[in-house]
Amino acid sequence: MRGSGFGTDGFSNVNDIFSHFSDIFGGSSIFDEFFGGSQRGRSRRRGPGTPGSDLRVNLKLTLEEIAVGISKKIKIRKQVKCNDCNGTGAQAGTSLKTCPVCNGAGEVKTVSRSVFGQFVNIQACNNCQGEGQVVGSPCKTCAGDGRIDNEATIKIDVPAGVEDGNYMTIRGEGNSGKRGGQPGDVLVVFQESHHEHFIRDKDNIIYNLFITFPQAALGAEVEVPTLTGKAMLKIDVGTQPGKMLKMKGKGIRHLNYSGSGDQIVQVNVAIPQKLNSKEKDLIKQLSEMPNVKSSSESEKKDFFSKFGL
Ligand SMILES: [Zn+2]
Ligand SMILES: [Zn+2]
Repeated sequence: MRGSGFGTDGFSNVNDIFSHFSDIFGGSSIFDEFFGGSQRGRSRRRGPGTPGSDLRVNLKLTLEEIAVGISKKIKIRKQVKCNDCNGTGAQAGTSLKTCPVCNGAGEVKTVSRSVFGQFVNIQACNNCQGEGQVVGSPCKTCAGDGRIDNEATIKIDVPAGVEDGNYMTIRGEGNSGKRGGQPGDVLVVFQESHHEHFIRDKDNIIYNLFITFPQAALGAEVEVPTLTGKAMLKIDVGTQPGKMLKMKGKGIRHLNYSGSGDQIVQVNVAIPQKLNSKEKDLIKQLSEMPNVKSSSESEKKDFFSKFGL
């Protein structure tokens, strides 16, 4: 469990979501599950009015943002409470009146007869949606709905380490309920943007580094980009192409436990493609040196080590 680095409600929320998420990871039906209502019905108290619907937004994140987490504010279109009637749907100065269809009961009883006997069917009243009251004189601004379309800003505390397709729920930030009903939720689905230098492997970051032949042969300190800025990396004397170097803790912070992944640097040796005559001469001279002349030693080492021999 991570410490206090994150907003408290945001984070406990995310933990909930992710434990739930692990069961349905990768399934295409994750949204059915969410919008299906069984979970909502249980967790939400039935108040006045009709509950607002949930909204879904996609949030693009860079690997830099994912590495350490980020708090973002985004604008969404949603139904918000009408201020002119304070969400009641009734014109200011007027009040609700008893529903004439169900006489305030909120339900309608129908009796049908058949050869099997008499059936009594009780249903929520359609005229008042089961509330027992209707707006006598509807608010002109919202036409009695109690809400209007508008733009709203929501804050999203993205924890570090999320993956493409992970989501979190922000309770109560969805569409306002009809005539004072409970608001819906906003479901934020994370999308990971492609990075021009890095490849993600779980919480590790893979980087392809090119060094020169002199750096590989003589050793060097080189500057390497990481998700949190530039860092120095030591290249040992005689480093072979293909060598993997680990920059500990320079990857992505883990989502559900402490610590971070690593940056894995694959070392490549760049061979110059254009040489002037002086450079050609020098390389020819170099190629006659006994320690440079033969590649057989490193070939052998490389070949056998690939097969673990
Ligand atoms: Zn209104
Ligand atoms: Zn009614």
